[in-house]
Amino acid sequence: MEYREIGKTGCRGSVIGMGCENLDGAPYEQVSDAISAALEQGVNMFDVFMPGQEIRENIAKAMGSRRKDVMIQGHVGSTDVREQYDISRDLPTVKQYFENLLRLFGYIDFGMMFFIDSQQDYKDVFETGFADYVLRLKENGDIRHIGFSSHNPVTAARVVETGLPEMMMFSVNPAFDLYPAETNVLDELHSTLDPTAFRGIDPRRTALYQLCQQRGLGITVMKTLGAGKLISPEHTPFAQPMTVTQCIHYALTRPAVASVMLGCRTGAEVRDAVRYLDATDEERDYSQVLSTLRNDFRGNCVYCSHCQPCPSGIDIAAVNKYLDIARLDQENIPPSIRSHYASLTHKGGECIECGNCEARCPFGVAIRQNMAEAARIFE
Ligand code: SF4
Ligand code: SF4
Repeated sequence: MEYREIGKTGCRGSVIGMGCENLDGAPYEQVSDAISAALEQGVNMFDVFMPGQEIRENIAKAMGSRRKDVMIQGHVGSTDVREQYDISRDLPTVKQYFENLLRLFGYIDFGMMFFIDSQQDYKDVFETGFADYVLRLKENGDIRHIGFSSHNPVTAARVVETGLPEMMMFSVNPAFDLYPAETNVLDELHSTLDPTAFRGIDPRRTALYQLCQQRGLGITVMKTLGAGKLISPEHTPFAQPMTVTQCIHYALTRPAVASVMLGCRTGAEVRDAVRYLDATDEERDYSQVLSTLRNDFRGNCVYCSHCQPCPSGIDIAAVNKYLDIARLDQENIPPSIRSHYASLTHKGGECIECGNCEARCPFGVAIRQNMAEAARIFE
């Protein structure tokens, strides 16, 4: 397993995490099989957003004494008062559900303010006692870190700007990133993913990921496979279905992303997901999918690494990623970005300007120019 820093929390999360949603309603044996497989594979990130008592108990029981070896995202405001998944901001209700989660797991590593998508959601969290409750949970040691979940990049950026959350769970996949920020991606998911609405990677989504990287917030990912539509020949919005590995790699190559939470239903599915770690660069390469679309992102790096290998050994996508953040405000480059750049084995200044990478890049990125600029800024 590979592990990444989750922003500035000091926690290191497995790049493959487990979203336990698909275990809801499964018998205990199945839950135990999936959780045990995940633990054996070194998965240490688990998302438990489900409000149901039985699934929560089954997960806690399957983890048993191994609970201390993992980190749990628990969601504040996830309820099923109307006998279905429901968002509640009513504090007595919210407390009842979250305190139940605390009783089962002892403490929660990432207390997530649940589902802040609309401006109304924002108000309901920050202009009521809700956010204060979450803060008190942290002060009491019931939650280790404050996070939130969202599908909307504009609202999410507003939440990040409050300075309260330390991490974020966001829906990241190549299809969602191509929709304008105002699109309700969950509505799209419930019908078809309509490629005629794609407009190139939406700058507000890119800006959100960069903002998180700048501020030191780690991102965990949901909807990596677009509810399976991206890997389905029948439902893919692209010229061809993607593979699970390509979808995981796309998410993991966005700025600030630490862990991709996959909704595995069995131990076998967990082991399948973890095969990502053994995939070759060619198997991970998702550039072909994006390059078949109307090319509105010409000149902008999408961090796909299709331009590799570089004879100087430069990780071109990584250099471009840090450069893009630095360009946002060259006077105030976050120290963490400088240190990430400093830790690269080979840096932009080592570019010998052979141009091989530019011949391979499907998106017309001025790589040699970027390497020189990165050297000027960082070295
Ligand atoms: S420079 Fe081009 S090929 Fe290389 S990572 Fe960026 S978009 Fe992909
Ligand atoms: S131009 Fe520079 S970055 Fe590109 S492959 Fe050649 S040495 Fe590497």
